[in-house]
Amino acid sequence: MSTALILFRRDLRLAGYPALSAACAAHASVLPVYVHDPDADGTWAPGAASRWWLHHSLVALERQLRELGGRLHISHGDTTAQVLTLARSSGATAVYWSRRYEPATIARDSALKAALRAEGLAVHSHPGNLWYEPWALATDGGQPYRVFTPFWRRLRALPPPAPLPPARAQHWVARDDGLPVSVLGLLPRICWDSGLAATWIPGEAGAQEQLAIFADEAAKDYAKLRDLPARRGTSRLSAHLHFGEITPVQILDHLRRRAAQADPGLFLRELGWREFAHHLLYHFPHTPQANFNPRFDAFPWNADAPAVLERWQRGRTGIPLVDAGMREMWHTGWMHNRVRMVVASFLTKNLRQHWRHGARWFWDTLVDADLANNTLGWQWVAGCGADAAPYFRIFNPYLQAARFDRDAAYIKRWIPELAALPAKVPHEAWKHPAALAACGYPTPMVEVAASRDMALAAWRRLPAG
Ligand SMILES: Cc1cc2nc3c(=O)[nH]c(=O)nc-3n(C[C@H](O)[C@H](O)[C@H](O)COP(=O)(O)OP(=O)(O)OC[C@H]3O[C@@H](n4cnc5c(N)ncnc54)[C@H](O)[C@@H]3O)c2cc1C
Repeated sequence: MSTALILFRRDLRLAGYPALSAACAAHASVLPVYVHDPDADGTWAPGAASRWWLHHSLVALERQLRELGGRLHISHGDTTAQVLTLARSSGATAVYWSRRYEPATIARDSALKAALRAEGLAVHSHPGNLWYEPWALATDGGQPYRVFTPFWRRLRALPPPAPLPPARAQHWVARDDGLPVSVLGLLPRICWDSGLAATWIPGEAGAQEQLAIFADEAAKDYAKLRDLPARRGTSRLSAHLHFGEITPVQILDHLRRRAAQADPGLFLRELGWREFAHHLLYHFPHTPQANFNPRFDAFPWNADAPAVLERWQRGRTGIPLVDAGMREMWHTGWMHNRVRMVVASFLTKNLRQHWRHGARWFWDTLVDADLANNTLGWQWVAGCGADAAPYFRIFNPYLQAARFDRDAAYIKRWIPELAALPAKVPHEAWKHPAALAACGYPTPMVEVAASRDMALAAWRRLPAG
């Protein structure tokens, strides 16, 4: 009876997992394995909010496998050493996994593959959690795409891969020498996670539930609601997608089957941005650290200012929409996309702090922190990324609030000390310092118009690109 190891990494699900289906089809016995190896992610080991999610997602997967008679074998340490030991002791002949596309994991997986093959094991890596792998699309000249619209046009013209049913192993191997999830130390020592626990259900079932809610309640109005942070107008599937609890193929299939709904085109386009982000990270692996557009290497950022950064991080800038977003993220591990753009613009342009400071903070506090999407988002807003927003497009946080949070419901939800004020007070905070101070709320830390002018002046001084 041949035995295969299936590695769970960012594929914390049983349905629609090509590597798992292949292992179940080719082997009588399948041993599900999770190796906790944060060092393999280099400087981008999961942040605190991601670790919280990972803990609960592993618990959910472990529960699913037990219901099927199996068990998730968990170990901690160097992936290659752990997988080799386990393969030897379980008599496995093959190891399966799905590919990841971050620079550090690509290097780790190449080493893993070589080590396993040297031991005589068969290695089968399968496509990861994208519609198409990052190298599948190229311009007519054979180059990576740098602009979203032609990338998306090409992607949409391809047939989406077919969804797979849940994999069924003939026999799940259930070893009892693995570690309990709790030993991995993923949960915070000081309890700050109650807001996360109240907001999310990590795991495959939670992902399917979230998709059903979105499909039933919001998908048809996505175009109308997606920019309103006070409404549940977007899917909130980003963390589920990041951890591979659901796939873009499954989402597309689900929405297609509910064909009565309005065209999900705009929503699919957002998934297209996710594909684009992974395409960029694969082809330009230096971009989590460095500007995509080297012209910005000469940009005169303000000197690092920990006190300034801390006011932004804690939601104490005195700019209500920015603070509401930062507090939403601190409490729930998630922030609405429009508000992400506003807080990022405020940090990089009005405060002229380097985008890397913002990217790091998001990395630690978002449950959906994702190297490809986060890098794209920050570089796009800062103006230095691929197909970035033109630099002069500096979000005015007051006008954004007046337009997308007209009655200040979002602001008041996350800054309850402003709840009794009329909406025009937070929308014109600079005019009402006394009213805001009476609520215990800080006065704006910078003057928005003047700091915008200074950012534009700094940008104009850059050498032509
Ligand atoms: C500064 C900044 C940082 C960001 N960091 C992250 C991050 O670390 N992780 C992350 O998943 N997204 C990130 N985003 C993108 C976006 O804000 C989130 O994906 C989105 O808010 C998640 O909510 P949702 O699932 O309801 O999105 P929906 O609107 O329902 O979109 C569906 C899915 O499409 C993908 N998507 C949507 N917008 C984008 C986008 N602009 N770029 C790439 N993929 C997108 C996500 O996977 C999302 O779940 C960032 C955006 C900005 C401006």
